[in-house]
Amino acid sequence: MPITDAHMHVGAFPTFGVNLDEDSLAGYLVDNNIDNAMIFHQDNAMVQRVIQEIPGAYGLYWANPKLGDPLPELRDFLDDPKFRGVKLHPLMDGFHPDDPMVWPIIELLIERDLPALIHCGHPIFSLPWSIEELISRYEDAKIILGHMGHGNIIYIDASIKVAERHPNVWLETSGMPMSVKIFEAVQKVGSDRVMYGSDGPWHEPKVEQLKVQLSGLEGDALEDVMHRTAQRLFLGADV
Ligand SMILES: [Zn+2]
Repeated sequence: MPITDAHMHVGAFPTFGVNLDEDSLAGYLVDNNIDNAMIFHQDNAMVQRVIQEIPGAYGLYWANPKLGDPLPELRDFLDDPKFRGVKLHPLMDGFHPDDPMVWPIIELLIERDLPALIHCGHPIFSLPWSIEELISRYEDAKIILGHMGHGNIIYIDASIKVAERHPNVWLETSGMPMSVKIFEAVQKVGSDRVMYGSDGPWHEPKVEQLKVQLSGLEGDALEDVMHRTAQRLFLGADV
C-alpha cells in the first residue's frame, strides 16, 4: 500500500536536539517506505532546495507572521509547484491561531485552494478551540489539525469534535498515541478527512505507520488514511 506522509521535517531543531540532515532525506523516505511526503522547516529556502531533487518530496511553507508580513515571500513559494500549502506553528512561534496577522495567509491559501497544517495540541496557543476560532472565520479554508490534539485525551477528543462541527477540517495523526482514536475519527468524520503523518524525525515514521495500521481500519479506509486523503488534499490527485 502506498504511503503519503502529511507531516515531516528536515534540517536541525537545535533547541530540541532533533535533526534530519538535508542529505539524508531521500534515504529516510526510502527506509520508511514513504512514497510522498510534505516537508517543512523554518528555513523555507533550504526546504525548497532539498525537495527539488527528490521526486516524492513536497514542501509546506513555514509561515511565522510574527517575523513580518510573510505574503510576498509566500506568494513566490506557492508559485513553485513543489509547495503545496502552509505550516503554522502557533505554539513554537507564539501567536494565537486567529490573530489578524494570520488572516491574510489563510486568504491567500483559499485563493490558491491549498491547505494549512496547524500544530494542534498544546496550551496556550495551539489548542483545538483556539484554532476553531480561525476555522469558523474561514469556512472555505482547508485546515488540518496537525497531531489531532497530540498527547492529551481532552485535546484529542476536542479535535475530533472540531472536525465534526466543520467540514473544512482534516485530522493528521502524528504524535497522537491512541490508535483507537484514529479509528473513531474515521467513524465520525470519514476516512477522506483523516490522514497519516509521522512528524519525523521528531517521531519514528514506522511507529507512526504501525499506529494507523493497528487501529482497526481496513481496505479503502486504511488506504485513504495512509495515502489517498493527503494525495487529494495536497496534490489534487484523483485517487
Ligand atoms: Zn512537526
